[in-house]
Amino acid sequence: MSYEGYEEFLCENGHYFTLPEFFCGGEIKCEYCGGSEVWSNEVDETNGEGFCFGPDRLRMKTEAEYYECQDPKCGHKTLIKPATYDTPTIEEMAEFELEMEKVS
Ligand SMILES: [Zn+2]
Ligand SMILES: [Zn+2]
Repeated sequence: MSYEGYEEFLCENGHYFTLPEFFCGGEIKCEYCGGSEVWSNEVDETNGEGFCFGPDRLRMKTEAEYYECQDPKCGHKTLIKPATYDTPTIEEMAEFELEMEKVS
């Protein structure tokens, strides 16, 4: 069985992004600002169960900003600035790990 999954990250500027697990080796840079990663969590989906910390669980520092198209027929949104988040504390990660253990 092949390994499936991805890894979630926060960069030094608090941007949340994910990369496929096969992105091994090489330096991990934020896709928005090019900053280094300061936090990561591996989400193993091989058995159909992945434990994603996810942006919902993170404490948001600043909201995302969008450019909204002024054409009413179109109305598309373009991301100008991604949301930023606080790095989870050791306590929050411990809580998350406890939760994972309960489910598995
Ligand atoms: Zn960034
Ligand atoms: Zn448009």
